[in-house]
Amino acid sequence: MKVLIAEDDALLRQMLHGQLSVAGHELVFASDGREAWELLQREDIRMVIVDWMMPEVDGPELIRRIRDAGWPGYTYIILLTAKSGREDVVAGLRAGADDYVTKPFSLDELLARMGVGARILQLEGRLNESLAREEALATRDSLTGLPNRRALSDHARVELSRAARARTTVGLILMDLDHFKRINDQYGHAAGDEALRRVAEVLQRNKRDYDFTGRWGGEEFLVLLPSTSLEQSAIVAERVRKSMETLRLDLGGGGSVELRASLGVVCAPPVTPPVDFEDLLRQADSALYRAKADGRNRVWVQGA
Ligand code: GH3
Ligand code: MG
Ligand code: MG
Ligand code: MG
Repeated sequence: MKVLIAEDDALLRQMLHGQLSVAGHELVFASDGREAWELLQREDIRMVIVDWMMPEVDGPELIRRIRDAGWPGYTYIILLTAKSGREDVVAGLRAGADDYVTKPFSLDELLARMGVGARILQLEGRLNESLAREEALATRDSLTGLPNRRALSDHARVELSRAARARTTVGLILMDLDHFKRINDQYGHAAGDEALRRVAEVLQRNKRDYDFTGRWGGEEFLVLLPSTSLEQSAIVAERVRKSMETLRLDLGGGGSVELRASLGVVCAPPVTPPVDFEDLLRQADSALYRAKADGRNRVWVQGA
């Protein structure tokens, strides 16, 4: 692990160089806070041993800068100080140091404290890895529980190439809620969220076992219909539109809001190579646009 030592005392730097190198640490040295700050910006350094009193930029100031930088990985900071007064230690920790060692210090103690830091950095690394893994695997939209955009794209690509081989068509419906912004504006974002959850329920209820329905983003939803023709897809879309009309969002006190939606319907023919999902989506988007332009609360079928 690379460790930066910011220390203005040349003798102490030399001593640390000898002793810590022996312990197997890769060391980088800075003779004041400014030099340390420059090094930290250039290199990926996760552990810093900072002297309190240094010219230019002192220890606490350097620590504050590191904490404010918002770098992706954590920087473990040990403050090295001649100040052993309780207030100084508190001030150092408040500035953002993780630990401190008072001068004169024993090498064993410094090494042991560096070991603590290394363990914490290791834990942080593992945590980041599993978060990244989880994020990569996340396929559900957290608001509605429906498959999210990633899942929809992945599924659509697989479905399109499967359909091309099986010589079947794939229907696709893109639905966008009408004037949804008004719901947020008039009743608040929480009501808007609740409306989206209710819409998701309706879509789930309407779908056949092999259909794949998800939240494309915002107030847009996508339905993939394997082995379905354009005409059949249009019928499904019309049924969805009608069921939106039956949705009532209760606002308490007897008031309720109605929802409407516009839908664009397209269909991918079985061709080799398979229809590009992005292309199909663009077509669905134009169909949706036509439905909006034509007055909303309606279905527009490609080629109509
Ligand atoms: P149009 O009929 O032309 O589609 O009008 P619209 O108001 O539905 O369209 P616009 O794109 O102007 O606004 C979409 C709105 O959807 C704005 C945005 O705040 C809202 N929205 C998107 N995602 C969410 C969400 O997760 N929760 C809530 N409450 N609102 C959302
Ligand atoms: Mg000093
Ligand atoms: Mg929209
Ligand atoms: Mg909309």
